[in-house]
Amino acid sequence: MRILVVLSALLVAALARPSTHDYLHGAQVLRVNPTTAAQVHYLQGLQNQDLYDFWTEPHGTGLPVDIMAQAFSVPVLKKTLQTIGLEFTVQVSDVALLLAKDREANQKARASSGREMDWTSYHRYDEIEAWLEELATTNPGLCSVEEIGTTYEGRTMKMLTLGKGGAGKPGIFIDGGIHAREWISPATVTYMLNELVTNSATYDDLLSNVNFYFIPSINPDGYEYCHTDDRLWRKTRSDNGSPFGCMGADPNRNWGFHWNENGASNNPCSDIYAGPEAFSEVEMRNVRDQILKYADSLVVYLTFHSYSQLWLYPWGYTSALPSDWQDLDDLAHSAVDALTAVHGTRYDIGSSTNVLYAAAGGSDDWAKGGAGVKYAYTVELRDTGNYGFVLPPDQIIPTGEETFEALKVVANYVRNNYS
Ligand SMILES: [Zn+2]
Repeated sequence: MRILVVLSALLVAALARPSTHDYLHGAQVLRVNPTTAAQVHYLQGLQNQDLYDFWTEPHGTGLPVDIMAQAFSVPVLKKTLQTIGLEFTVQVSDVALLLAKDREANQKARASSGREMDWTSYHRYDEIEAWLEELATTNPGLCSVEEIGTTYEGRTMKMLTLGKGGAGKPGIFIDGGIHAREWISPATVTYMLNELVTNSATYDDLLSNVNFYFIPSINPDGYEYCHTDDRLWRKTRSDNGSPFGCMGADPNRNWGFHWNENGASNNPCSDIYAGPEAFSEVEMRNVRDQILKYADSLVVYLTFHSYSQLWLYPWGYTSALPSDWQDLDDLAHSAVDALTAVHGTRYDIGSSTNVLYAAAGGSDDWAKGGAGVKYAYTVELRDTGNYGFVLPPDQIIPTGEETFEALKVVANYVRNNYS
């Protein structure tokens, strides 16, 4: 018994992650393709055991799931998958090597671009925030920035409002970076904001009739922790009293609509830890309060994640669909068609036919169910797993270009039907 206790303590300590990438030497990402509902549910159960880091979540049959195992547990995972008849391929053969290459690529890109905001490298949180301020200063009457609160570690959170029609115009709320390691998300959100601002004359009609609310990075502590300590950090950085020193909650399991009913964990060491209560994470409360403030006029809520190339809509907490799902599905198809037309990038759209998996506490569910925003979407950006979270910086601009076309479709729809 004592040995068992010691062993499980060691296992949890290993999962708590040291603050270097040493723990990723020999770590692998395995890809499985569940073909039956039973296999999807098995994977969901496996994710809930917190033994492995699920890089993508089991959404449904026909959608691949990428699972990372540390070197010591790769053989166990392979055996487990074989036992239940799930074939796998090795998607990443050495995670530490992938991260080393990624770090080199970003450092090289940054060396030529510096701290000035651009879309050839991934930027630090303070650089993004300084850029938001600069946009507001140089574009009065078009952009304004307000502080919406501070993070657990004391960073300031800012929201940029874009539009020249004044209060009361139909609104589109856009956030990014809820999961810390999904760096392409803040990069894409800032890319789209930059396009709208620098070409404001082109989009004059749109900007006169629709208001945009941008928060590019809503998990700043986690995002910075990725830059300084652990590139694969997903959660917030709050202290929830874990005896093993595990930090943070999954901010996309923390929202207060059917919170923690399923697809989330009560274990603070888990990557899908729901938190001690709904909205326990101050960053999510800050964003929630802004959505509520503008809820009467908001038509669209867009939250950007990576990766998998999916355009998803509620519900997340149940496999049932909202009564107006056809409206959400139609607009999603129009948006994805425009996206694909740019570089040929293919997206799946979350619908009754392919989404079986339920995970409660997502921000899109709350936006629709809690705040009444009709068109609430979760977008999983590039890629489909070649690089996963560590998408090379030379893919920021193409990702921005195609995603911006999708946003334009959504925004024009709002302009034509709600203003
Ligand atoms: Zn995510």
